[in-house]
Amino acid sequence: MATRTSQMERNIGTIIDTFHQYSRREGHHDTLSKKEFRDLVKMELATFMKKENRSEAIINDIMEDLDTNQDNQLTFEESMMLMAKLVFACHEKLHANNPRGHGHSHGKGCGK
Ligand SMILES: [Zn+2]
Repeated sequence: MATRTSQMERNIGTIIDTFHQYSRREGHHDTLSKKEFRDLVKMELATFMKKENRSEAIINDIMEDLDTNQDNQLTFEESMMLMAKLVFACHEKLHANNPRGHGHSHGKGCGK
């Protein structure tokens, strides 16, 4: 019996699909090269990483931080560290205009 895929499950699928959309473009099909990472951040994280996207040097620094084994490629696992940071930052931002203790309402969204 098939159960309905939840929105959370679909969103996890979207993250994996988006990673593959870029990872398969050049070199190893399951890792991001510097260019693939830059394109992904520019196209898919334009709002959440608006400030960072203004500087190629900053994007390169972020990639170097994520590339823990220093092979100039980001595996899916290495890339997900950025996703985790963005999820935390987004949640903080949602609460920024709505201090805790006054119910649980969220502000105008994150990255804006
Ligand atoms: Zn993969």
